[in-house]
Amino acid sequence: MKKDKTAIALTVAGSDSSGGAGIQADLKTFSALGVYGASAITALTAQNTTGVDEVMAVPPEFVLAQMRAVASDLDVGAIKIGMLATDETVEAVAAGLEAFPEVPVVLDPVMVSTSGALLLDETAVGILRDRLVPRVTLITPNLAEGAALLGEPPESREHMLEGRATRLLELGPGAVLLTGGESMAETALDIYADANGVERIEAPRHETRNTHGTGCTLSSAIAAELAKGESLEKAVKLAKMYVTAAIIAADELDVGQGNGPVHH
Ligand code: PLP
Repeated sequence: MKKDKTAIALTVAGSDSSGGAGIQADLKTFSALGVYGASAITALTAQNTTGVDEVMAVPPEFVLAQMRAVASDLDVGAIKIGMLATDETVEAVAAGLEAFPEVPVVLDPVMVSTSGALLLDETAVGILRDRLVPRVTLITPNLAEGAALLGEPPESREHMLEGRATRLLELGPGAVLLTGGESMAETALDIYADANGVERIEAPRHETRNTHGTGCTLSSAIAAELAKGESLEKAVKLAKMYVTAAIIAADELDVGQGNGPVHH
């Protein structure tokens, strides 16, 4: 019997020892959405639900080696990029992407954890903007990351978000999903911008202390849908539904003392 082609996604991201964010969230998301997951690990973190104790960047040549090993054998349909740690890691991942011509890439420009730990050196923000952002299909910054990429102040009122998303699009990605969920009162509002214009994507807001890994889950869910062959706009909407369900289900989990993980 002829088998259907296996949809494969690759995550290039950091490891979270507590299992809620990073590579671990990405692989759970891929699996839950029926996609086979491969991973190239950029950094190890020693962390739990209360915070990040230590970060160890993987040597950049080894990040590149992981990406090339995957590229030479697996038929990757989409890539998600998360935590990149250092200037050299950003350069290595930009080089690694050359092994994946035409493959759609979702870049979550991870900078600081919810608990305040630095996950990307400040010097690397400019390199990320210049070397990676123009190459990718979609960037998924939150408000603070979007502001940092633009060199603008972080405060952002709801009516300013569409302008921000448009200016982010001018940095050269195929599309922008500016996530504003954390700061908005009644709804979880994201702004999607591509060459066709700007669109508001809203979902009901659900209060829970278990939001660890939300950003990672959103970007990997988009990559999973792209790997299955969905259009970018459809992938974004399906991923937003997936994340909303994962946040609502998070209260079923009792993991750790702090900001617990969402439930896949
Ligand atoms: N740890 C790793 C390895 C991550 O990639 C991320 C976010 O991308 C975080 C921690 C932060 O997760 P949160 O801000 O949801 O706690």
